[in-house]
Amino acid sequence: MSRIRARFWDPTGARHGIPTWPWRMAPPHLWTLRQLAAEGLRPGGQDVQAQIMWASRRHGAPGVRVAFLYDVRLALPKRTATARQLEALAKANAARRTCPGCGIDAGYVLPRHLGICLDCAGEVAA
Ligand SMILES: [Zn+2]
Repeated sequence: MSRIRARFWDPTGARHGIPTWPWRMAPPHLWTLRQLAAEGLRPGGQDVQAQIMWASRRHGAPGVRVAFLYDVRLALPKRTATARQLEALAKANAARRTCPGCGIDAGYVLPRHLGICLDCAGEVAA
């Protein structure tokens, strides 16, 4: 193991405060935020569990970079609507626009006090 790797090898967190692994060496159940998001997950209520550290030479400026890790077993689904939820929402909205009198999607939400589209309401009034 190289010296740099050894510097970042701290699974107990004795040196770095929280468990630390070198890049690509973390246990498989510890994920970064980006990895969680890619699977439609969020950390949930958990705190940062661990970190990975690596030496970066990006932009010619050597430095230590850190990515925080979360336990995927504690992760929760993101609260964004799923495709199925969006579909149900679209159906509900379509139902609110569809006139029971003529059966046509009026293109607007039917006025609650009429319960039918304006065309039908006009015919009734006439
Ligand atoms: Zn109508």
